[in-house]
Amino acid sequence: MSATERYLQGSELTILEGGTVIPCTEPDLLFSDAAIAVEGGRITAVGHRPDVLARVAAAGARRVDLQGGFVIPGLWDSHIHLGAYVPPHEQAFSHETPGHHMIRCVRKMQDNLRCGITSLRSLGEDNDADLLLRDAVEAGEIEGPRIFAAGDIMWSRTAAGADDFRRHVRRAIARGVDQIKLLSSGGIPWRSDTIGHTLHSYEEIAAAAQEAHRWAKPLAVHAMGDETIIAAAKAGADTIEHGFVATEKGIAAMAAAGTMYCPNLTVTIAWDPALLAAKGYPEWFTANAAEAAARHHEMFREAVRLAIPILAGVDDLPEGDGPVGIEMHDGQIGLIAELKLIRAGGMTPGQALLTATKNAALAARSQGSSAPSSRASMPTSSSWPATRWTTLTGLPT
Ligand SMILES: [Zn+2]
Repeated sequence: MSATERYLQGSELTILEGGTVIPCTEPDLLFSDAAIAVEGGRITAVGHRPDVLARVAAAGARRVDLQGGFVIPGLWDSHIHLGAYVPPHEQAFSHETPGHHMIRCVRKMQDNLRCGITSLRSLGEDNDADLLLRDAVEAGEIEGPRIFAAGDIMWSRTAAGADDFRRHVRRAIARGVDQIKLLSSGGIPWRSDTIGHTLHSYEEIAAAAQEAHRWAKPLAVHAMGDETIIAAAKAGADTIEHGFVATEKGIAAMAAAGTMYCPNLTVTIAWDPALLAAKGYPEWFTANAAEAAARHHEMFREAVRLAIPILAGVDDLPEGDGPVGIEMHDGQIGLIAELKLIRAGGMTPGQALLTATKNAALAARSQGSSAPSSRASMPTSSSWPATRWTTLTGLPT
């Protein structure tokens, strides 16, 4: 922990000044000559320096000079699986113990924090590992980002009937999840003739949505194609994950229902069909990847055009020697690659930043931006993050 981080956690009033703050509360808002007041680990004021100094009892406060740097709220990865492994690693890990799985989860969680990713929307984890880690981080037993956990979600592949969905959602809520996640369609690593197969009926998704919302928990739905997306959007899903084979109809359904969209754009670049074929992946897997990549980014541009709220989420990428640590793509942190692709889809830098800050906080129904009373978690960057993402791209040594 750096000296500045220790100040931020202490009870003493600390004022950070001499830099630019991008609060990520609305697109392209920034405060040059900014100040941030932090007390007891919470931001009590943020804005133009004279305004902040007028609002807090600054005499005697500890001062930290930002040296002309830029400050943004801690970033979110809105679609993560801490212990995930992807082909070809499933053989090596098929007999993994829960203990070893937890070690990989801890490593990935802490790698994210070290890279400035201070909140994770965990959308499904074996052994409820994300629930355990969330609680351990909150209790101060282990260092890590804030985790919004869906826990074990595999029940949603085999549950059948609206009552069964209600029962499973109630069980998940009783176990302490922060959100409900349904696997409502096929996917790239699932053997089938199309990744768009719908697994759940409208009634089943609606039952899950009702039960989740009864407890004010959001419902996230893994949905690849129009049929699943339209059912989930109408049934009250809060977010659609992936939408790899959506068409204009699926995108329009999200816009009409006000559903947020987490597209995982890096996935359909990283799982490159030609690369997979060269590496000896089975033909069905390569075909799924090609189907996913065909129109995904074009339809994302349509979602941006319709002003659907977007979430930056990485999911699982194939880079690296094994399933340990933070996801990487093309030598960059996965979330940075994702933000670049989101920008390429038609967003301004300021709008793109909101997909990894404000929008994510809204999707988790929490306050995650640097608005007053947020928890203080702010990566600093020495230059405008939209043009110099590289300041966030390396694992600190
Ligand atoms: Zn996922």
